[in-house]
Amino acid sequence: MTKDVLFNRIAVIGLGLIGSSLCWRVKRDGLANHIAGYARTRATRDKAMELGFIDSVHDSAKAAVADADLIVLCAPIGANGAIAAEIGATLKPGAIVTDVGSVKVCVIRDVSPYLPDGVHLVPGHPVAGTEHSGPESGFPELFENRYCILTPPPGADAGAVERVAELWRRAGSNVELMDPHHHDRVLAVTSHLPHLISFTIVGTASDLEEQLRREKHDASDVVETREVIKYSAGGFRDFTRIAASDPVMWRDIFLNNKEAVLELLGRFTEDITALQRAIRWGEGDVLEDFFTRTRAIRRGVIEAGQAGSFSPGEPEKE
Ligand code: NAP
Repeated sequence: MTKDVLFNRIAVIGLGLIGSSLCWRVKRDGLANHIAGYARTRATRDKAMELGFIDSVHDSAKAAVADADLIVLCAPIGANGAIAAEIGATLKPGAIVTDVGSVKVCVIRDVSPYLPDGVHLVPGHPVAGTEHSGPESGFPELFENRYCILTPPPGADAGAVERVAELWRRAGSNVELMDPHHHDRVLAVTSHLPHLISFTIVGTASDLEEQLRREKHDASDVVETREVIKYSAGGFRDFTRIAASDPVMWRDIFLNNKEAVLELLGRFTEDITALQRAIRWGEGDVLEDFFTRTRAIRRGVIEAGQAGSFSPGEPEKE
């Protein structure tokens, strides 16, 4: 192996935004000698080969992982258990299984029972993405200057953890280690609740016109969907970007991080009720204090270099 090659053979299961972006990066920088790929549908598998971000395509996950040194699970998290059940017994001793899922406790729960002794599990989560999905949406810079959180279970092999960490560092990410349970609580705050709120706002706005018409409001009271879209630069458009994310992926995230999301949602509901009360009672000082604190958080995000969308088409800094 040359100096840059980290793994002889990598198998990537799931060839959408995250899987294809990782493949592009591995290919671009020569981090593996061979990338084997598998996705659920023939259309995605054919597209991946046509685009050229994998070296070989296979008709099953089991075939793709044959002789692989590193297996990266990049399907929606709800699929991991069945994939692990299919491939587990066929993995070679010393192989490393990692993943990119947005929830981590469930990955350890669903995957580890199927891995034989001598196969290492190093769960990971690149905190990077766009609202696009599928094999055509990937690009090699997606992970640049983003965090990648690894959540090795207790007793994980230190050498395997370091090899996965090095892969992500070479993909451009800052690698951090975290307890899986803690990861799921942090991400509930930074990602899962914001997505839930965005899905809700966009849903509420899109149902509004029909609801108001059914309730037989005066024409001047009816807010039309075309107006919501036309004047979306007032704030709504930022929610629509987040709410355009893949429905299956997000279904699986909420089903698998239920406790942390529900706990946080309870707190959010209390806070929004407090603001509702302040608006109703004309408590301007309460509103102003609250908004002053939230503005400071935004400055912190910018200073941490995590502002801007995750799309290469949009500016990174403000
Ligand atoms: P995506 O673009 O929708 O791609 C998902 C891929 O998984 C597709 O290639 C799909 O194949 C494949 N797949 C679905 N079910 C499968 C199965 N049973 N067996 C094998 N392949 C299967 O999704 P993504 O955005 O890359 O997300 C993938 C993972 O990354 C998720 O676990 C998500 O939590 C995590 N993640 C996402 C983001 C983000 O912003 N998108 C960020 C960080 C982490 P077909 O096309 O053939 O259906």
